[in-house]
Amino acid sequence: MTTMSVHDSATATRRTFLGAMGAASTAMLAAAAPASAQRATGRPYPQAIRPLPPDGGRRFGYAVVGLGKYALNQILPAFARCRTSRLAALVSGDPAKARRVADQYGVDHAHLYDYAGFDRIANDPTIDAVYIILPNALHAEFSIRASRAGKHVLCEKPMATSAADCRRMIVAAREAKRELMIGYRCHYDPVNRKAAALLREKTVGTPRIVTTDNSDVLAFDDPSAQWRVTRALSGGGSLMDLGIYGVNGARYLLDEDPVEVRAMIPPTDDPHFREVEDRISWLMRYRSGAMVHGSSSFSTAATTRFGVQGTGAGMRLDPATGYYGNRVIVERAEGAQSWSDPIFTIPEPDQFAGQLDHLAEALARKERVRSTGEEGMQDVRLIEAIYEAARTGRPISTDWGNWRNG
Ligand code: NAD
Repeated sequence: MTTMSVHDSATATRRTFLGAMGAASTAMLAAAAPASAQRATGRPYPQAIRPLPPDGGRRFGYAVVGLGKYALNQILPAFARCRTSRLAALVSGDPAKARRVADQYGVDHAHLYDYAGFDRIANDPTIDAVYIILPNALHAEFSIRASRAGKHVLCEKPMATSAADCRRMIVAAREAKRELMIGYRCHYDPVNRKAAALLREKTVGTPRIVTTDNSDVLAFDDPSAQWRVTRALSGGGSLMDLGIYGVNGARYLLDEDPVEVRAMIPPTDDPHFREVEDRISWLMRYRSGAMVHGSSSFSTAATTRFGVQGTGAGMRLDPATGYYGNRVIVERAEGAQSWSDPIFTIPEPDQFAGQLDHLAEALARKERVRSTGEEGMQDVRLIEAIYEAARTGRPISTDWGNWRNG
């Protein structure tokens, strides 16, 4: 992670870029050098070699369930950056696509499954865990089936479409004595972790007001948008899909759970939003005195932004929960300081690879994972409370005696 004053950020970005250019011009000079200088010398690049896992070689095997946009674009490529995990199997409803993807990632066709034959993973010893990347309403079924097949589970957010389903998933994992982890990638993002650490160090004093805004414009010709506006598959609209980053984010920024929520869903004439909300806004009250206002939307330009106003300073994360390039800025009267991911260096394990390895490494250390099923269920319970508050127009108590402080 780099740290810089915001006033310096333009020059620093340019400097980093020039650094990268320096490497490129060195490569160009090498290309122009005499042939004798071009012999292979075996010059080592130790930093590019990933350490082998502690057992001397066997990597933790994942079966990825669902080969949609997030799986294909973010998760499958991340295995190349993992320290301890590997892609062992694929589960898809489309056998031709499964074979194509398997060939691309070197997965033997013996480890391809369809949804009906999913339970056969029980007999596949190369699979340690199942990563569920399906529409939200299918998370519970496949998580429970995976637990019963004796596999650990990493399940995408939202954990499920109801708290009742979350409970069933937790019970199934517990009965199988297997771990259940939720794909809260921001828990593995260095920038979000830095922001939480700065707040614990009281960098802004006492946090009093938190804002979270997450939005994107849905492209309705995309199948991945269609299930998102179909309640039976999504469980809800922008709150379930994008607002959840703010619901969860406010909890890890404040390290506290809210005791009361209020919310509003404005009416819309857009026929795409007959079943689920487009825009929603909510307020949360915390026992410490902090308050949060959050929003999410499926019809406004891509935004992912957190803000924390404390008694001594302010903090902004913008972008807060992006795939890359997140940034946290602490703003004080005397100046600002920011932290962001380096872009032009050999990547440290990023949030995607970090999340995949975390399950493997937590199990090896016999520790609970950072983003547990209980954490996922708390967000789904809060989302249910937000929807109830919007429907009834009344404040809803969420004072459930939670496990975060407060
Ligand atoms: P997508 O539509 O691109 O992929 C969904 C996959 O599920 C497709 O391969 C589709 O064929 C398959 N599928 C199986 N049964 C289906 C059914 N009945 N209806 C529709 N599709 C079905 O969606 P996505 O964007 O990849 O999202 C998948 C999950 O990943 C969601 O839970 C979403 O919330 C989560 N996600 C998380 C992040 C993140 O940053 N953590 C980002 C994107 C998506």
